Amino acid sequence: MDDYYNDWQSTRTVTECNMFMFQNQIGSDVTFTLGQSGEDVVSAHKYVLCSRSSVFFAMLCGPFHSDGDDTINIPDIEKDIFLALLRFMYSEEVSITADNVTQILYAARKYSVLQLARKCRDFLEDNISTDNVSVILENAHIFDEEGLYQNCLSYIFQHPYECVQSDQFSDLCRSCFERIMGSDDLQLDEDLVLPIVMKWASKQCKKQDIPVTDENCRRVLGNLFYVVRFPIMNLQHFADNVAGNCSALTEKEKIELFMHMAGKNKSLSAGRFICRRRKPFKLVCERLGSVENASIENFRWKVGDIDKVDFSVSHNIVVLGLIIFGGRLENSTYKVASWLRNHSNDEVLGDINMKLQTTDKQTKYEILYRKPVAVKAGLRYSIHVLMKGPKTYWSESGHSSVKTQDITFTFYDNPEDSNGTSKTRGQIPGILFTRHLAETE
Ligand SMILES: [Zn+2]
Repeated sequence: MDDYYNDWQSTRTVTECNMFMFQNQIGSDVTFTLGQSGEDVVSAHKYVLCSRSSVFFAMLCGPFHSDGDDTINIPDIEKDIFLALLRFMYSEEVSITADNVTQILYAARKYSVLQLARKCRDFLEDNISTDNVSVILENAHIFDEEGLYQNCLSYIFQHPYECVQSDQFSDLCRSCFERIMGSDDLQLDEDLVLPIVMKWASKQCKKQDIPVTDENCRRVLGNLFYVVRFPIMNLQHFADNVAGNCSALTEKEKIELFMHMAGKNKSLSAGRFICRRRKPFKLVCERLGSVENASIENFRWKVGDIDKVDFSVSHNIVVLGLIIFGGRLENSTYKVASWLRNHSNDEVLGDINMKLQTTDKQTKYEILYRKPVAVKAGLRYSIHVLMKGPKTYWSESGHSSVKTQDITFTFYDNPEDSNGTSKTRGQIPGILFTRHLAETE
C-alpha cells in the first residue's frame, strides 16, 4: 500500500487515525466472519475492541482465549450492522435509521457497548408513532428494555384507538398483546376490543396453518379470549351484533351473558368474563390551535367579561374540565370561574372557582370541574369562563367540528358571548373528558 510512504498520521486526530487504520485494515489482528452465510469478512484491532467492550475483552484476552484463535464467527449479525458497531467503537460515530436501529441495538447489547445501546433507545423513543409503536414495543420486549417498553405502553394507552388499528398490532406476541388488551388502562369500548382480538387470533390461525373460523380463533386464544369484557358491552350492541354473529362464544356463555347484562341481579355470574370497567382515561378535544402572535397589540384578549361557547357531542361522555389560555407575562395570577350549563334551561351542571398561576413558559392550562359532568349525545351545552387578571393568549385557528377517537364535538356560537369567543376563535381551546366513570363512582 502506498500509505507506507505517505505521512497520513500527522494531519489527523487520534480518532481519525483509528478510523484510517480500521478502514484501510492496517495492522489488524482479528478477523470476523459475519452473517448466516459466513462469507462476509471484517478485520479489526483487538486493542480497540478490548478497550471499548467488556465482552470483547473477555473474549479476546480472557482465560478461555487461545492465542492462535484470531478468526471469530458471528452468524447472528450481518456485515453492515457489525461495521456500524465497530465504527462507533473506533470513533463514537453512528448513523441510526428506522431500518437499522433494532439490529444495531441487538449488536450493541450483545457486546455491551452501552452508550450505543442508549443512542438506539433514544432514537426509538423519539420516533414512536401510531404506525410503529407495536414494532418498537415488541423489540423492547425481546431486548428486555423495560423503560422503552413502558414508554410504548403509555403511548398506546394515550392513543389506543389509532394504535390498535395499525397493521402491525396483530403481529404482537401473546404476552404483549395480552398486556395491552387485558389492561384496565385501555380506554376502548368493548365492541372495539372484540374485533381487534379476533383479528389477532385470525393471524395466529394462519401462522398455525389452520382454517380461520370463530371456533379455531377461540381455541388459539385460550384464556386470552377473556380480555374481551362482554358483560360491560352495551346490551343492544351485544344482542344485535355479537350474540348472533360470533360463534367464538358458546351458547351457554351467551345465555349467561344475557342474564347478567339484562337481569336486575348484577351479581349473576357472567361465567369467567370480567365485569369490571376499564379505567376512565382523560381525553382531550382541542378545538383551537396555536396561539396568536403576542405582538399584535391592538387585538389582545381582554379579561373580565365572560367567554361563552356552545357544543354538542356524538356520544355520551363525561366532561372533566377545560383547557384555557394563560397570560403572556412572566408570572400572572387569575381568578377563574367556569360553569357548564344545559343550553335549553340554563341549569348549571358543573362549576369551577379557583386561582390560577400562569407563566410565559406555557400557553395552555388544565382546569377541572368540581365534579365530573355527564353530557348526553345530541344535546346542546354551554361553557362559560370568567377570568380576572392580566390579558391572556387567544387563538383564531379553530375548528367548529373536532373528532377525538370516534367522538365528534360540534361547536356553536353562543349569542350571549361578550368577550369575542366564538365557535372558531378566542379562549377555551379545549375540553377534557372521558368516556365513562369508573364503576365505583
Ligand atoms: Zn412481545
